[in-house]
Amino acid sequence: MKPQNSRRPDDKTRDPDHPRNPGDLTRREWLAGAGAGTAALLLERDPLRAAVRSGGTPVQQASTVVFTNTTVANPDTVQDDVALAVEGNLIAAIGPTDEVLERYPGAETYDGRGKALFPGLINCHAHMRAVVARGFNEDFGFPNTANLAISPASLLEGEEGNLMVQVAALEAITTGTTTIVEYTGNVQRQAGVLADSGLRCVLAEGIRDAENVPGPMSTQAMARTVSETPRFSERLRDEGMQRINDLFSSWHGARNGRITVFPAASLVETSSPELLRAVRDFAETNDLGYTIHLNQSRAEYEFMVMHHGLRPSEYLDRHDFLGPRLFAAHARYVNHEEIALLGSSGTIISHQAGMAANRGISPPIPELRTAGCPIALGTDNNTNDVFEVMRTALLTERIRRNRDGDEVPGLQPQPEDILADATQGGALAVQQPDALGTLEVGKKADLIVVDTLRPHLVPAGRIISALVHCGHPGDIESVMVDGRFVMRDREVLTMDAGAILREADAVGRRIWGRVLEASPLNVPRLTRNG
Ligand SMILES: [Zn+2]
Repeated sequence: MKPQNSRRPDDKTRDPDHPRNPGDLTRREWLAGAGAGTAALLLERDPLRAAVRSGGTPVQQASTVVFTNTTVANPDTVQDDVALAVEGNLIAAIGPTDEVLERYPGAETYDGRGKALFPGLINCHAHMRAVVARGFNEDFGFPNTANLAISPASLLEGEEGNLMVQVAALEAITTGTTTIVEYTGNVQRQAGVLADSGLRCVLAEGIRDAENVPGPMSTQAMARTVSETPRFSERLRDEGMQRINDLFSSWHGARNGRITVFPAASLVETSSPELLRAVRDFAETNDLGYTIHLNQSRAEYEFMVMHHGLRPSEYLDRHDFLGPRLFAAHARYVNHEEIALLGSSGTIISHQAGMAANRGISPPIPELRTAGCPIALGTDNNTNDVFEVMRTALLTERIRRNRDGDEVPGLQPQPEDILADATQGGALAVQQPDALGTLEVGKKADLIVVDTLRPHLVPAGRIISALVHCGHPGDIESVMVDGRFVMRDREVLTMDAGAILREADAVGRRIWGRVLEASPLNVPRLTRNG
C-alpha cells in the first residue's frame, strides 16, 4: 500500500516514506517511549543494510536469502522441493533449487529440507497490554462478571505497560504472527516498542465521544444508566481525532512502511454519528482501513435498541460506517438483517474465535461468509497466538455448521479455508492484499519456517491440514518480517526474551498478589461427581 498524504492543513512537511527525524520528536513523544523506536529508524532506512538487533548488538544479515529444497505452502497451492529467494524485503523467486541458486550465487542459504514455509499469520485484533490479565479475563464472561476491587491494569507503573506489550510481541512472533493490529486508546505510548519488535504493525487508535457511557456496555451498567440518553462531546471527539492525526503524522509509513496507522472507533455504544463519519472520512482520505468493536454482547444491542431504536450494525449502516475498508471485530450477536447489511456492504469481520469460545459464543461465521463478508482472524485480550486461533476457528465453525443443519458434519470449513482467513483475510483487512497474505514473487517477505519433522506432523497427507489440526507453535523455528529474520532457530532476535519474561513475571506476581488480596476470587467451579 502506498501511503497517501494526510489532508491535515498544517502537515506540509510530512513524508510518509521518510518519517521525522528523532530530533523532531516532541518532549511528550520522547517521554511516551517513541524516542527509542525512532532512534532505531535511522538504522533501518536502508532495508538492505538494516540490522536485526539483539540486545542492542546489530546482527548483520545478507540482503539475499535462499530457502533451499523446501515446501512452500499457500492456502491454494503447496509446492514441494522448491527454493524461495528473498531479496531485500521482497520474495524474488520461487522455483527449482538449482535454478534459484544459480540466479543468486552470493545469497545466504537456509537449508529447507524437512521444513515448510507458510505466509506469516495476521492478527487483526489485539490489545497487547491486556496480557496482564491472563488467567482471569478468559473465565468470567463478557463484560467480566468477576468484580475485582482493583483492576490489574491499573497497577501497571511507569514502563510496565510497554513491558506487557513486549511480552505480547514475543508471544506473537514465536507463534508465527508477522502482522499485528494493536487497537487501543493512546496507542502512541507503545508505538516505539512495537516498532522495535520487528513485527509489521497497524497501530489503530480507538476513540470515543460519549460522556456518560462507561462502555463496553454491561448488564449492570445498563441497569444504572437505563434512563440516561447517551451524551456526546465535541471536545472528546476533537481530541480523539487529533490523537489519530498526530499518530498518523509520526508513524504512518515508518520503518520502511512496516508501520501503518489506522483510525478506529472504540465501541458502537460510545460513538456518535459525527465520530463515525470523522473516522471513516480520515480512512478514505488517507487510503486506510478502520475498525470498531461490533455486536460483542447482548447488553450492547439492547442498549442500542433502547437509545437509538437500531441494532448495532443497523446504526453503523445508517451512519455510513459499513463498507470494505471496515474490519469490524466480533459480530457475535448479529441477527439476519444485520448479517445482510454487513454482507452487502462488503464489511470484513475480524473473528476472535478463541476469545469468543472463552465467552461461550460461536459467532454466525457461516452466515456471514454466505452474505459476502470476508473473514479475518484476531486474538483479542490476553493471548496473541493466532496459530491456536486457527484451530479453534476451524473446530467451532464446524460445530456451528452442524448445529445449523449441515448434511454431512465435519466437511467445512477446511484447514485451507482457515489458513486463508489468517493470511489473505488479514491482508485484506490491513489493506495490503497485493503485498501480504501469500508467498508469491513480488510480495513482501513475511513468512514462517515450520519444522515438519515432528511426531505430530509426520506423515502428513496434506501439510496444511496437519499443521492446523495437529501443529504446535513450537514447530515454528524461524520468522521473517519484511525480509529480515525476527526469530531464527527459535531465538527471537529483536528482543531479549529472557530478561523481558523475568521482569514481566516479577511485575505480574506483584500485581496479582495485590489484586487477589483485595478481592479473593470466587471461581464458579462445577460440582464434581463421584
Ligand atoms: Zn477487543
